[in-house]
Amino acid sequence: MKTYSPRRLSFYIGAVLAIISIVFLVIIQALSVPVYSYFILAIIYFGIIYFLMINILKIYIDDKIEPLYKIIRDIPAKEKKKIQTAKKDNIIANVHVEVEKWAKDQIDEIARLKHLERYRKEFVGNVSHELKTPIFNIQGYILTLLEGGIDDSNINKLYLKRTEKSIDRMISIVEDLESINKLESGEMKLKIETFDLVKLVDEVFEMEMLMANERKISLQFKRPDKAVKIRADKKRILEILTNLVANGIKYNKRKGHVNISFYDLPDNVMVEVADNGIGIEKEHLSRIFERFYRVDKSRSREQGGTGLGLSIVKHIIEAHEQTINVKSVVDEGTTFTFTLEKAK
Ligand code: ADP
Repeated sequence: MKTYSPRRLSFYIGAVLAIISIVFLVIIQALSVPVYSYFILAIIYFGIIYFLMINILKIYIDDKIEPLYKIIRDIPAKEKKKIQTAKKDNIIANVHVEVEKWAKDQIDEIARLKHLERYRKEFVGNVSHELKTPIFNIQGYILTLLEGGIDDSNINKLYLKRTEKSIDRMISIVEDLESINKLESGEMKLKIETFDLVKLVDEVFEMEMLMANERKISLQFKRPDKAVKIRADKKRILEILTNLVANGIKYNKRKGHVNISFYDLPDNVMVEVADNGIGIEKEHLSRIFERFYRVDKSRSREQGGTGLGLSIVKHIIEAHEQTINVKSVVDEGTTFTFTLEKAK
């Protein structure tokens, strides 16, 4: 249907109204109708104007705004009726509220997408940066071996051992990335079971004993008298404890200690992993759960760290709908506490 500009439309409406008015005046004059029939003429006049206006408004407002509604609310064409019944009464009064809400949703969505894009770029940058070092190291060792080093008994075994170390590092980065990816995409389903936390701590200490002995760190456990049964994914909780205990050993001083204790709460068990190591400065404390965040990059790499351990820990705790906290004093030590659901 053809539509006009406001100026032209007003001109046509004015002209039509003037013509109708004149026609009515002529009828009144010519027929010299009695006064009571003015009332009937007024009703007819009203009817004509009403019909005219409703159709003009429909063409100029309803028919123009409805497609907008359809776009902003993402309503398929066949559901046109729904908008009509919902909005017919006051389509003009509602449209600005709807458009403002739509605009706000779009702004929020754009902000979310920008954040994701920034995160993706940062993540890809971090991953390639982390992988670069071991890859270049391997390349360097192999080149040296190929250029004759292979026959030099002073370096051939040493360089192969270093190559193996770089490969191990790449494997741990890739494994951590895989865990993070699974946790973030929700692909990793928790296998909740009831188990004894005391036995799990024994297992963790057994696994970490070698590294602790090498660095003269003692592993201590305030062992409760009886079993502490909890409901969680055993493999994941083992991962959390291993990460926290390994950090307690890695970021410690010689002859330091790492201590595990449990606290009994009404519905939960609170687990505390405390060390008396180098500690973390306040400004870093809120960021240590971020991916690839490391207070001292070279120290972390030297210890075989990927900067992903604590972010995996946090993800696992959140997947269990529990919380983790950290307190630390530089040169005095760090304490991580997290909760787990008690088995009924
Ligand atoms: P990494 O693989 O580098 O150990 P994490 O995610 O486990 O990565 O830890 C992030 C950073 O937090 C570490 O690089 C280290 O600087 C700091 N950190 C973690 N645990 C401790 C701790 N117990 N004592 C001191 N610093 C710690």
